[in-house]
Amino acid sequence: MISVKKAQLIISKNIRLLGVESVLFNNTRNRVLAQDIIASIPMPQFDNSAMDGFAVRAADTEGANQSSPKTLIMAGVSSAGASSNITLQPGECAQCMTGGKIPKGADSIVIVENSSGFLDSKRIEIFKEAKIGEHIRKQGEEVQKGDVVISKGTCITSSEIGILATFGCEKVSVMIKPKVAIFTTGNELIEPGNKIRLGQIYNSNFYMFLDLVEQSGAEIVMSEVIKDDKGSLEKSFYKALQICDIIISSGGVSMGRFDYVREVYNELGVQEHFWKIAQKPGKPLFFGTRGSSLIFGLPGNPVSSFICYMKYIDPVIQNSQNKKRNSEEHQGILTKDFPVDSKKHRYLFGKSWIDSHGKLLCTPTSKMGSHMLTASLRSNCILESPPGKHELKAGDKITINLLNWRNFK
Ligand code: AMP
Ligand code: MG
Repeated sequence: MISVKKAQLIISKNIRLLGVESVLFNNTRNRVLAQDIIASIPMPQFDNSAMDGFAVRAADTEGANQSSPKTLIMAGVSSAGASSNITLQPGECAQCMTGGKIPKGADSIVIVENSSGFLDSKRIEIFKEAKIGEHIRKQGEEVQKGDVVISKGTCITSSEIGILATFGCEKVSVMIKPKVAIFTTGNELIEPGNKIRLGQIYNSNFYMFLDLVEQSGAEIVMSEVIKDDKGSLEKSFYKALQICDIIISSGGVSMGRFDYVREVYNELGVQEHFWKIAQKPGKPLFFGTRGSSLIFGLPGNPVSSFICYMKYIDPVIQNSQNKKRNSEEHQGILTKDFPVDSKKHRYLFGKSWIDSHGKLLCTPTSKMGSHMLTASLRSNCILESPPGKHELKAGDKITINLLNWRNFK
């Protein structure tokens, strides 16, 4: 049995970057950018109107108001998408729609509401004095051509996808996602939608892993539910070892008579780095490698599986793409006692929040069993304490791992 620190160190030594690939910009959600995105055009690309109205020379509208409008001569129309080459002479104006190019000679936009309107008339009345620059979006005011708009290493969200489109980037270079296999094992497992018989258990880990792996940002290339049967395990694990960077299995890895997972991994040539960590829950965690594949055999209890995934696998998936994890550790203050173990690292789901004085507080769940997945329901973090002699008391400090997709609340 090894310590949590040692286990983390061993795993981290086996993480490697998988290289980069070129991907269509709108397929890059949750991917890590492997290049800077440089503005190929200024934004806005040209001086254009922010409103529907009339492009004018501000000086021509001096003193204009409702009772004594200024009359200007219509010189043309500039609309979004239609390139116009109008030049305004003194005393002239041009209809100019939102996004339309500002005619040469114009220095302001009078909104249509302050004019006699978009009529076909040659003579337009302006009811309000224009200010120079009003309602004009200047070329390059947002981004200059050549600026770095998104930096290498950024994890792509909706905003970045929008910006990639804004600058016309079709393909972008991103870090390659690890290919993952997910296996849940157990004769007792049945799938949601079936009637449960005594002794059976609904397969929760499988669906939890599918979602967790998706959130971490890996590609699931294989996912199966396997019986506690050596032949079946061998067949599936063998195939996964050919095509996957990471293999995740749950169940069948502890001391039970039908726990074949470790044995099968060993028989398939997986080099075992450890089996059993001094932690609760999740003691019988198996970690091995074969070639460049990383193999994790997680214990089947759902809380153990969830916590082992977050503590040992999520960092691998994120680090293998140089992703900045937002689930780093924080130090918070307990509002309830936390059960420290003399030999084992303890993990419990918990709630954490920032109080009105800015203090980070937390409380562990009262559901302690590794089979009690409902403990995760109203939790936003995993609390952890290394082995120690004394229980942590309310008011003591503790380490908080905020779950990736949650906030302090
Ligand atoms: P094992 O690690 O195979 O000994 O399983 C430990 C406990 O976790 C048993 O009570 C199993 O029924 C339960 N378990 C194993 N796999 C799953 C799963 N995929 N979903 C829900 N519970 C599971
Ligand atoms: Mg089992």
